[in-house]
Amino acid sequence: AKRKNIGGYLFYAHEMSETLLENKQLAEALIAALNSDQFYLNYQPQVSLSSRKVIGFEALARWNHPVKGNIPPDQFIALAEREGIIVTLGDRVLQLACDQAVKWLSEGIEFDRIAVNVSVKQFVETDFVSKVMNALSLSGLPANKLELEITESLFLGDKKVALETMDKLTSQGVRFSIDDFGTGFSSLLYLKELPVAKLKLDQGFIRGITTDHSSLQIVKASLQMGQALNMAVIAEGVETLEEQRLLVQLNCGEAQGYLFSRPVAGDKVNADLMEAIAE
Ligand code: C2E
Ligand code: CA
Ligand code: CA
Ligand code: CA
Repeated sequence: AKRKNIGGYLFYAHEMSETLLENKQLAEALIAALNSDQFYLNYQPQVSLSSRKVIGFEALARWNHPVKGNIPPDQFIALAEREGIIVTLGDRVLQLACDQAVKWLSEGIEFDRIAVNVSVKQFVETDFVSKVMNALSLSGLPANKLELEITESLFLGDKKVALETMDKLTSQGVRFSIDDFGTGFSSLLYLKELPVAKLKLDQGFIRGITTDHSSLQIVKASLQMGQALNMAVIAEGVETLEEQRLLVQLNCGEAQGYLFSRPVAGDKVNADLMEAIAE
């Protein structure tokens, strides 16, 4: 209701500034948390559907706020983007993930890649390439063990910049995957211009494959396209045996989801977990 009520307006303005203030306070708390054990990563295994072996892990950020408890990443990532701290957060995530991956390698845990989510704001920074190379050299992780998950929203911006950055990192051995593929409202032209190694089928499509004709058709078409363009395809959010069976039938190479494992702490990744998944 648009009541012209000065008092009401003032009240509204007051409420606004309170949420703004809350955001600022929460953002400050997040900055402080980044270098404490409140902020950490969990890792979700990615599985080959033909061999059942774990081939990689996706690093997922977690924030355990002392008062508010666990804040979902969707919320604090959005907050970090709004408040301009996503780059600092992203740097921290990259370093934590590379360090963990090196630790696993030293423990004899084998995997192809560790996948790290990169937000557009982070990716378009002029020093992004050197930040990535820095995290690699500080940790000692070989570049060919790192995969960066980017989203299609990146290609709504300057494609030349995206191409340059991707080329530089690709030439070092870093690989790129497209997260939430098919949800980004961008044209598919980028797929033939950019070095994309993998498509990650959004769990919104996977959720429907056993019940809904159009989800199934979208997944089929994406798999065909991946094959034609020589890109790996991974299905996200696989929760049921039925979904897995159908994906195997469709020749989908890789999957990730609660059916295999929830995201777990780095030190929970061990031979037992790897064997349990392969069973
Ligand atoms: P995402 O990159 O699409 O990550 C997959 C999300 O699906 C994760 O949620 C994961 O826990 C969840 N998931 C995995 N398997 C299943 C399943 O079988 N069923 C269901 N229902 N969900 C499943 P999470 O960890 O809550 O992360 C949410 C989003 O937050 C991520 O979506 C990503 O966009 C963002 N995010 C998380 N960590 C980072 C980060 O370090 N940097 C950036 N930029 N974004 C991050
Ligand atoms: Ca992701
Ligand atoms: Ca995703
Ligand atoms: Ca997502």
